[in-house]
Amino acid sequence: MPLFSRRHLELLNWASAYYHHPVGEVIFSALPTGLRKGQTARLPLSQFWLLSEQAPKIDDPCLQRSIKQRQLIKLLTEQQQGASAEVLRSLGPNWRSVAGRLVEKGWAEMIEQEDDDHMAQTVSEGSAPGLNNRQQTAVDEITTGLNRFQVFLLDGVTGSGKTEVYFRVIDEVITTGHQAMVLIPEIAMTTQLIDRFRQRFSCPIAVLHSGLNDSERLKSWLMARDAKAPIIIGTRSAIWTPMARPGLIVIDEEHDPSYKQQDGFRYSARDVAIVRAQRDNIPVILGSATPSLESLNNIDRGRYRHLQLPERAGDACHPAIRFIDIRKVPIENGMSPQLIDKIRQCLNAGRQAILFLNRRGYAPVIMCHDCGWIATCRYCDAHLTFHQRHQQMRCHHCGAQQAMISICPECESNGLIPVGQGTERITESLQDLFPKAKILRIDRDTTRQKGSMSRMLDLIDKQQADILVGTQMLSKGHHFPNVTLVGILDADNRLYATDFRASERLAQLIVQVAGRAGRAEHPGEVFIQTHHPEHPVLQSLVRGDYAGLARQLLSDRHHATLPPFASMVMIRAEAASAGGALEFLQKARAEITAPASIEIWGPVIASMERRAGRYRAQLFIQATDRHQLHRFLDVTLERLDNFKKAPTLRWSVDVDPQDTF
Ligand code: ADP
Ligand code: ZN
Ligand code: ZN
Repeated sequence: MPLFSRRHLELLNWASAYYHHPVGEVIFSALPTGLRKGQTARLPLSQFWLLSEQAPKIDDPCLQRSIKQRQLIKLLTEQQQGASAEVLRSLGPNWRSVAGRLVEKGWAEMIEQEDDDHMAQTVSEGSAPGLNNRQQTAVDEITTGLNRFQVFLLDGVTGSGKTEVYFRVIDEVITTGHQAMVLIPEIAMTTQLIDRFRQRFSCPIAVLHSGLNDSERLKSWLMARDAKAPIIIGTRSAIWTPMARPGLIVIDEEHDPSYKQQDGFRYSARDVAIVRAQRDNIPVILGSATPSLESLNNIDRGRYRHLQLPERAGDACHPAIRFIDIRKVPIENGMSPQLIDKIRQCLNAGRQAILFLNRRGYAPVIMCHDCGWIATCRYCDAHLTFHQRHQQMRCHHCGAQQAMISICPECESNGLIPVGQGTERITESLQDLFPKAKILRIDRDTTRQKGSMSRMLDLIDKQQADILVGTQMLSKGHHFPNVTLVGILDADNRLYATDFRASERLAQLIVQVAGRAGRAEHPGEVFIQTHHPEHPVLQSLVRGDYAGLARQLLSDRHHATLPPFASMVMIRAEAASAGGALEFLQKARAEITAPASIEIWGPVIASMERRAGRYRAQLFIQATDRHQLHRFLDVTLERLDNFKKAPTLRWSVDVDPQDTF
């Protein structure tokens, strides 16, 4: 049996052409690690035990002294079709040797065969809430078009019941014997959503994410490919999993940047999903509370169907977003007195608070108070972050770390001080302010260990935590019904960023964090600390108007002819020596002749030129006609390939780049 169907191979070929990435590497990355290492592409066989005709009856005296053998014979007498290992396990820990003895005596036989075809025995269960009108309309619209390609944007505020809509549609898809693939962002909270699926559907679910080992992954992959699993749930790379009986693809939180692979083969799982669905002639649901500008533009062009869920499901209401103007306000430890008051009130009312700060560690800068020296990374153009618990200085860009120093290397004084706020420091300050409060810090440092995230979520659910301090990890996926206060501490850092997607990202982040608060009967409040309360992004969000803001941002992009009104490709180059990458791209730029319809910008030095010891530069190529751009690239990239270059110089192509800094 070939690894992939012809159809799947064609998809991989398309991806190779579209992303201008070698087809060999595309196919390689589409394979689970087990197969890359040469394991066989077959599901492991299951063992079954059957009673043979020579077996004694249960009341035969020869069984009198071996209770276990008698129990086993009784069990096998009841299971005429054969009993699986799961069933025999009920005999106790040494069931295998008991079964072995029976086989030796010729009383039983063991056979190996493939599991039954589970597609047939699919049932969905679990308690489902009745749908509200909006949800029902969405489900009806999607399910009437299940047999053909169509993209639905399920645009629903957090808690509006999007997941419930997915469930109903998936139920329809699998009862007709087809498979549904659900993609979720690369997050530590993956397991919560998977648990929800497991509670709802009793059929096999193939799970594919980075937390699995090679053989688990391979098993899921094969179950998807051979249609043994009606439901496939996974993160970005799961989009490459073959499905024998495709029926639906769901992209949850479609705006999430983690759908774009940021190195090597730089594909967007969301965009691939749409192409894949088109080829398979099946529908796609893109779900989000903060749809990407790309998807909204596709609504405007009539390419996608817009399904809206503007209200929270049940009787929960929207949290109000407000800002705290911190101009001239004395700020202690990153928090304004007003915010601290709000936290106090929240705790006194027996509720939970979230404080959001997108910086882990204790302080982002280590400075000498005597001479002004600042600790920088040896390999990057970046400051080192102070991590107090481990007494280390760490670079968040290349991962370099070293022990914290106590003497300034410049002036030899002992005046080193941490400057600025990270989650570790905010947690410490809060503990001083509220000594009785239980505070949890949730960031990449505290969730590195397997299972630590679930443990923390459990504490929150059981209300054994009062304040949660976290990075953007906290903005995704999970709902905290008892959280009534959200404080956003560092929005200003992102208001004037240079990346053309910065405003869109900031708005999505704030709305997503806000969405964690105020479920059920307790309404939530969100406070953004800012020096720029007049900023249009914040103004729109305070009005609760993400849609209006998205319109405005789209119109800005239109005037500037930026994506999604143009297709963009970025050529990244990096070299071991300063200036090498820029020089290479300058030479390239001088050599390529572009027709008038193709715009070329740069090359420019990357905003952080040196990272992990490599110097980086970028060239942008853009056109309003995607096909023209790709034809131009085909020719140009081939010429670049033949260019003379320094042995350490590397360049790569990023089609539809997400991060352009
Ligand atoms: P979303 O995915 O949009 O954030 P969910 O599907 O997770 O929303 O739903 C949020 C909560 O509301 C869940 O606890 C869900 O069980 C509940 N819910 C969904 N639909 C309804 C409904 N029609 N009536 C009552 N509760 C609902
Ligand atoms: Zn000094
Ligand atoms: Zn570094």
